Amino acid sequence: MTCTEFLQLLDDLIDDAVSTTLRSEVEQHLQKCGHCEVVFNTTRKTIEIYRCHEIYELPADLRERLHTAIMDRCRRSC
Ligand SMILES: [Zn+2]
Repeated sequence: MTCTEFLQLLDDLIDDAVSTTLRSEVEQHLQKCGHCEVVFNTTRKTIEIYRCHEIYELPADLRERLHTAIMDRCRRSC
């Protein structure tokens, strides 16, 4: 799995909508790639905060901003 593939799966991962096989591939990638691990943990925390405030649907602009920031950082560090 590459960083780009991981980022494409991010939304589904957060929603727990990936297969067990795919999830273990992701976990393998996260063990090797500290950058994606940070991205995953940060995104999950952000969404948990939203859920605590009972906003279940992540605003589209936030999702967009998150993606842009992640892709930008990935391009520079991966
Ligand atoms: Zn990565």
